[in-house]
Amino acid sequence: MYAIIAHGGAGKVREKDPKEVENGMKKAVEAGLEVLKNGGRALDAVEATVNVLEDDPLFNAGTGSVLTFDGEVEMDAAIAYGPNLDFGAVAGVKNIRHPISLAKKVMEKTDHVLLAGNGANDFAKLMGFEYHDPITQKRKEQWEKYRKQFINGDYKDWPKLRKLFQEHPEFLHGTVGAVAVDSHGECAAATSTGGVFLKLLGRVGDTPIPGAGTYATPFGAASSTGLGEGMMRVLITKVAADFLGMGLDAPHAAEAVLNYLNNTVGTEAGIIIVDRHGEVGMAHNTPDMPHAYFKEGMSEIKVAMR
Ligand code: ASP
Repeated sequence: MYAIIAHGGAGKVREKDPKEVENGMKKAVEAGLEVLKNGGRALDAVEATVNVLEDDPLFNAGTGSVLTFDGEVEMDAAIAYGPNLDFGAVAGVKNIRHPISLAKKVMEKTDHVLLAGNGANDFAKLMGFEYHDPITQKRKEQWEKYRKQFINGDYKDWPKLRKLFQEHPEFLHGTVGAVAVDSHGECAAATSTGGVFLKLLGRVGDTPIPGAGTYATPFGAASSTGLGEGMMRVLITKVAADFLGMGLDAPHAAEAVLNYLNNTVGTEAGIIIVDRHGEVGMAHNTPDMPHAYFKEGMSEIKVAMR
């Protein structure tokens, strides 16, 4: 039983965007489904899905990533392959089009798990990734506005980030992720992000950390979105994978792990999960989390905002 579910970030979708966000999610899941339907691997399916979302400027990954406090884009991405707990990730990578594909290269071509900063950028050049400017005009305008508000004191200090995101969940919207199980029963996860608005240079979120933003085991796979500083402390995707290993199915694991997060750090979060039997699950504590999924046997892809 193959299945795939993708998310477009936990947060709040602006009123004028839903239709475009839905179309973007659907197109992305179609790309992954194409791989799965033809007997391909979950690993390639989640990469294909995330590549489409990285190219869509509506989402905070690849082109359209949010800007750091200094006005740059530093992207994080990770891919996880369940059968043998393989993992590849990049952090703080600049000027490439598809960070998730670079993360996959880390997994396949190196003995490392995570490459960061200059080393990750040099590795991208070595792997033949071409220069690409991911900064869009719209993100630049948002950055100018938010930065001004921040400097004028309309925003609270960094330690109050949690409050900031509770008041403005739209800041979080846009990270992307996909998890899939293929017809061989193999599970994989992929997550890609520009991080959070106005982050300090060098800040790394949950996305590229194994078991935080991204994880896959023989029992299933999970990808999370929301405030990374919370997810890294909870290790939300690792806890989700453990729940699957203990026998919960994907929908119950999603509910259980979100409860755990709500009862501990209580930060903004969303998660998508697939289990090896072809069930998908999702949960979030933000107003929205656009997502789309397909399970073998369904007649069409289901897309929803929350
Ligand atoms: N989890 C991402 C981060 O903290 C942000 C997001 O999901 O929107 O980097």
